[in-house]
Amino acid sequence: MNIIHLLYEELTGFFGLGGLIKMVQSGNYGVLSTLEGIQMLMGPIIPLLLLLEILRGLFYKRFKIDEYKMPFLVFVLNRFISRFISIAAVAFCIGLLEKWAIFHSTFTWYWLIYGYIVWELSHFVYHYFGHKVRILWCLHSTHHAPQQMNLSVNFAHFFLEAPYADVVRTSICILLGVNPALLFFIMFIDGFWGSFIHIGENVIKDGRLGFLNKILLTPSHHRVHHAKNPLYLDTNFCNLLNIWDKVFKTYQEERTDLKIEYGITREMNPNSLWDVYFGEFVCLAKDVTSAPNFKTGLLYMIMPPGWSPTGDHKTAKITRESFITHDQEIKTSEAPVTAN
Ligand SMILES: [Zn+2]
Ligand SMILES: [Zn+2]
Repeated sequence: MNIIHLLYEELTGFFGLGGLIKMVQSGNYGVLSTLEGIQMLMGPIIPLLLLLEILRGLFYKRFKIDEYKMPFLVFVLNRFISRFISIAAVAFCIGLLEKWAIFHSTFTWYWLIYGYIVWELSHFVYHYFGHKVRILWCLHSTHHAPQQMNLSVNFAHFFLEAPYADVVRTSICILLGVNPALLFFIMFIDGFWGSFIHIGENVIKDGRLGFLNKILLTPSHHRVHHAKNPLYLDTNFCNLLNIWDKVFKTYQEERTDLKIEYGITREMNPNSLWDVYFGEFVCLAKDVTSAPNFKTGLLYMIMPPGWSPTGDHKTAKITRESFITHDQEIKTSEAPVTAN
């Protein structure tokens, strides 16, 4: 009986149905007109879309268990540890830093616009350094390991990544005056959109979403972010508004002539939980222990992945730039010569 109850709790928790069930049981439908009610309605959307994605795959006989197995294993591993540390980290940062805020905003629509722009900046900072500092890439790479895109990729995270992300994002937002209640509201929207942009190509084939591709960060942009093609490396770090990618020149649109290849650039076994979870740590440990001195060992940890003490760097920036140069050379040589 206990097992059935536990299973019921886990399933309603996973599908985000707890609040809705309580509402039906109590008959208090008035809650739907509140912020809590809207959150209750949106909660089940991503899990249900994930179910739809799997059912479509099964129906068209395209469902491959391997494409979902690893993110789910990581999800189970993270389930209890990560969330607890993350909530504690957010509360700690708010308590510690609120008194140092440059000013204090309130929960209004105009501060929401300000708060969202600041939030996107803080997200950009966390995410950018998650790619550019190798020790932080060890935390973030689990999310990039899957070699396909579907909603289960949302669950593929190293358990310390959420606390790292939340400390950076909360600290920046609180210091720049974002009201804590507003911050939680923004986090909720961000969590929803951040999950949605991982939707599989079998549900939404063209992830550009029409004109939205011009104003929002769409599934198409995030598919590019998860790609290991040279042109797509280390681009599109934002989540909902891609203003900061445009400001910092990391914006990249999906090219119809360049099919996305998902995953990370090093040789790895995507079906090994060990490799997905600890693979980058192992590679870094090998480099650090074989470093000729302390300084080189330290540089391995803080420089971008691909950095080499010999100067023969193979970083994402170099790979991307040499692709762009080569691509431009081809285009120039193919361009028709116009006679004057
Ligand atoms: Zn990333
Ligand atoms: Zn992602």
